Amino acid sequence: MMLGLILSRAGVPVTVLEKHGDFLRDFRGDTVQPSTLRILADLGLLERFWQLPVHKEEVMHATLANGSFAIADFRGLKDFPYLALAPQWDFLNMLAEQGGRYPDFRLMMRTEGRELIAKGGRIVGVRAEGVGGEIEIRADLIVGTDGRHSTMRLAAGFEPHEFGAPIDCLWFRLSRRENDQEATGGIVGKGRMIVMLNRDSYWQIAYVIAKGGFDKFRAGGLDAFRQQLAALAPFLADRVQEIRSLDDLSLLSVQVDRLARWHRPGLLLIGDAAHAMSPIGGVGVNLAIQDAVAAANTLGPILLAGRRPSDGDLARVQKRREWPIRAAQRIQLVIQNRILAHAVDSGAESLRVGPLLRFLLRFPFMRRIPARLMGYGVRHERVRLAAKSG
Ligand SMILES: Cc1cc2nc3c(=O)[nH]c(=O)nc-3n(C[C@H](O)[C@H](O)[C@H](O)COP(=O)(O)OP(=O)(O)OC[C@H]3O[C@@H](n4cnc5c(N)ncnc54)[C@H](O)[C@@H]3O)c2cc1C
Repeated sequence: MMLGLILSRAGVPVTVLEKHGDFLRDFRGDTVQPSTLRILADLGLLERFWQLPVHKEEVMHATLANGSFAIADFRGLKDFPYLALAPQWDFLNMLAEQGGRYPDFRLMMRTEGRELIAKGGRIVGVRAEGVGGEIEIRADLIVGTDGRHSTMRLAAGFEPHEFGAPIDCLWFRLSRRENDQEATGGIVGKGRMIVMLNRDSYWQIAYVIAKGGFDKFRAGGLDAFRQQLAALAPFLADRVQEIRSLDDLSLLSVQVDRLARWHRPGLLLIGDAAHAMSPIGGVGVNLAIQDAVAAANTLGPILLAGRRPSDGDLARVQKRREWPIRAAQRIQLVIQNRILAHAVDSGAESLRVGPLLRFLLRFPFMRRIPARLMGYGVRHERVRLAAKSG
């Protein structure tokens, strides 16, 4: 959507296919990091964005066996000293609405890309299934932005390198009360962990379980789960009954992978289709958006000149984005394999913050480092492709 919006704003005709009839997906990437806020500012969309039901968070905490610590402090970051949380469907609807202002933007909902059309060694189009049956769309460039189970990636014959993930997440919500003191962040107990996001009127909560452990978790039953939750976060004890059944929990499986090559002539893959991100740090959506901006900056002028991007042009997009993605995935893998796997292991000792880290976290600039990495990563993109004049 972001790539379609930026290209059509510049005057490149774009068709965006979305297989669902709406963007109503719960518990999916609602974190809008400062890097994305900057892009929205570049596009003049910030004012519109603040009209959405956005919650701002300045500091993230972790509660472990030996206390609660501020682990990421956004307050020192320039321009946007906070993390924003906005429902993803509102965010995507906003992009769709903005795209609708440009004659070159076409969004086809309920239209699923199924196959790639190749001619003379180049991808020249896509076959899709829409409301009216099968259609063929020919284009100078196809961009696969269809997420971690990408059909376009499969159709191109690409197989990602899987890094594995020791955890899955069960998402649910509980009401939030005026006098709740707890902040956005994680609470770790012996063999158990939750991540809580303050959404003003409710808490969005992820209960982290060991990979593939859902059947075992289900077998434990609802009451056992409510008790575990109340033990982990005693302030929630008065409302665990709001979880009426284990079906209120949405299982979202965690996956981390990356393609060695993100392109072949006529086709580029970006976002999770090229590199599935773990939820750690809430950066996946934001990195997918950065990929889109880099792709628009690199390929927009070529498309505007009426040329087909060469395979070398597509390689430049991968080259620009690969290193920030590698860095983010490396950090996610270290956290998930060294810390989270331990946190959900019922046989392991309770996690504690060591004395050195405790000492370092007393300095604001140390707490700013994780916020900066989440907020902007190691490289962030700005929109360089100008809007079409007139
Ligand atoms: C449990 C969990 C929680 C997460 N939480 C966060 C978070 O808080 N913040 C964050 O930044 N990241 C989070 N992430 C990561 C984030 O979800 C992804 O990195 C991000 O969504 C990738 O964006 P994308 O646009 O590449 O793909 P997606 O967001 O997956 O979008 C792909 C789109 O393509 C559509 N589609 C799929 N196939 C087709 C097809 N064949 N034809 C047409 N349309 C198709 C889909 O319906 C979808 O709309 C989380 C991940 C997990 C697993």
